[in-house]
Amino acid sequence: MSNDETIGWSLKNSYMKLPQTFYEETHPEPALHPHLVAFNETLAQSLGLDAQQLKESEGIAVLSGSRIPEKSQSIAQAYAGHQFGHFTMLGDGRAVLLGEQITPAGERFDIQLKGAGRTTFSRGGDGRAALGPMLREYIISEAMHALGIPTTRGLAVVKTGLPVHRERPLQGAVLIRVAASHIRVGTFQYAAAREASDELKKLADYVIDRHYPEVKDAENPYHELFRHVIDRQASLVAKWQLVGFIHGVMNTDNMTISGETIDYGPCAFMDTYDPKTVFSSIDQQGRYAYQNQPGIAEWNLARFAETLLPLFHDDTERAVDIAQDLLATFASRFHRYWMKGMRNKLGLSNERQEDRDLIKDLLQLMEHHQADFTNTFRSLTLESFTDEALFEAEDFAHWRKRLEERRAQQSESIKTVRELMRQHNPAVIPRNHRVEEALAAAEQEEWAPFHQLMQTLKKPYAYSDDQKAYICPSSSTVPYRTFCGT
Ligand code: AMP
Ligand code: MG
Repeated sequence: MSNDETIGWSLKNSYMKLPQTFYEETHPEPALHPHLVAFNETLAQSLGLDAQQLKESEGIAVLSGSRIPEKSQSIAQAYAGHQFGHFTMLGDGRAVLLGEQITPAGERFDIQLKGAGRTTFSRGGDGRAALGPMLREYIISEAMHALGIPTTRGLAVVKTGLPVHRERPLQGAVLIRVAASHIRVGTFQYAAAREASDELKKLADYVIDRHYPEVKDAENPYHELFRHVIDRQASLVAKWQLVGFIHGVMNTDNMTISGETIDYGPCAFMDTYDPKTVFSSIDQQGRYAYQNQPGIAEWNLARFAETLLPLFHDDTERAVDIAQDLLATFASRFHRYWMKGMRNKLGLSNERQEDRDLIKDLLQLMEHHQADFTNTFRSLTLESFTDEALFEAEDFAHWRKRLEERRAQQSESIKTVRELMRQHNPAVIPRNHRVEEALAAAEQEEWAPFHQLMQTLKKPYAYSDDQKAYICPSSSTVPYRTFCGT
C-alpha cells in the first residue's frame, strides 16, 4: 500500500468529466517550509484520513501543496460572478482543487487548497493567502459548523514559509478547505456566458447527480433543481439571521449550489443589534448589510434562474414565467424558516398569529436599547437579566409579560421550554475582538488563545462556565472593520 492509501486518501475527479472549459489542470505551488499550525482531527477522521499520519511530513506535503496524492489530478475551476452587482469572469485565482475525497460513509467532499499559488485565473493576483485570513476562515467556518449552519469546513492551515506582500509583508499560509462542492451560482453564470447550451446542461445534470439526485425523475428536473436551491438558500440565510452572522460579500460567486456557506472574507457576527450593520470596509453602500441578506440571496437566485432559462422551457417567455413563479417562493420560504427559528429562540413550540408582532417588537426594543443580539437571547434563555440597558426598561418588562402570556398557550413544561431555547440560542459566538486577539497572538507564534477560542466555539450551546470569558462584546467604541483578506 502506498503512503497516500495508508493515510486514507481516496480522491476522485468527477468534476473533470465536465467539458474542459469548466476547469484548468494546474498544480499548487510547493511551500518552502511547510508548518502545520491548525489541524481538525475530527474532520480528518470523518473524511477517512489518518490524523496521525497526516500530521507527519508525507501528509503535510500534500496539505501544503508540495505533493499531489497519487492518482489525483489537481485543477482550478472556472466561474464567473456578479461582484457588488457587476458581472465578471473569475475562476479559482488562488485555490487548487486536489479532488473529491470519498469518505468511509460514501460521501464526496471537495478538498481544496486555498492560497496555493497562481493559476490561469489569477489575473493580477499572486495566488497566495496570508496566515491571518486563512486562520480566520478556519475559526469562523468551524464555529458556523458547530452552530449547526451548513458551511465549508477547514481541515487544516499550513504556513508555507513564503512571505506574501500586502500593505506589509505577511506570513503565507494555505487553508485546506472541505466542501460538499465548490459549484457556485457563478459556475452557472460562467456556463451561460459561454452561450453553449450543451455545456450548461452538462453542468446542471452533474449538479443534480451530485447534490440533488432526488429531482432526477421529475417531469422537468431543472425546475426542481431551482426549487431545491431556493429552499436551501432560504433555510441557510434564515440560519445566518438567527445568529447574527453577516457574510459581508454575497457576490454570486460566493453562493454555493449545495447550500453551504462559503468564503469567509469580510464576514463577522453582529454584537449590538442593528439591522443596518455592515463590517466590510469595501461595502460602503451597505449592499450586504445584515438586513439586506435575504433580499440579496433572492437577487443572486434570480441570476441563477437567468442561467437556467434554456433548460426551463424552449419558449423563453414561458421559461421566464416558470423562473418568476419559483423565485417568488423564496420570500415565504425564508419567512417560514426564520419564524420557526425565532419561535425556537423564544421557547415557543406551537404557532400563533400574534407571534410575528411579539418577535418584531422584541427586535425593535433591542434596536432601540442597543442590546447585544446574542446576549439578549442568552439572557432570555437563562432568565438572568443583567448587563443590558434593555432589561431595565419598562417596555421590556411589558414585553416579557406578553411572552409569558403567549407561553401559557402551549402545554410544554418550563423545563422543555428552557431546553428548546438552549438548543437555539448560542451562549457564545466568535466575538470579533476574541478572533482578532487569537489571530494577533498566532502571528507571534503564541497559539494558546487560538486553541482556547476553538475549544469554546466547538460547543456553542453548552452554556458551560468556561465559556463565560467569551461572551462579552468588545468594549471598544471604534466600529469593527473587516477586509477581504486577499
Ligand atoms: P473572493 O473575494 O475570495 O471571493 O475572490 C474573488 C476572486 O478573486 C476569485 O476569483 C479569487 O480566486 C480571486 N482572488 C482573490 N485573491 C486572490 C489572489 N491573492 N490572487 C489571485 N486571485 C485572487
Ligand atoms: Mg470567493
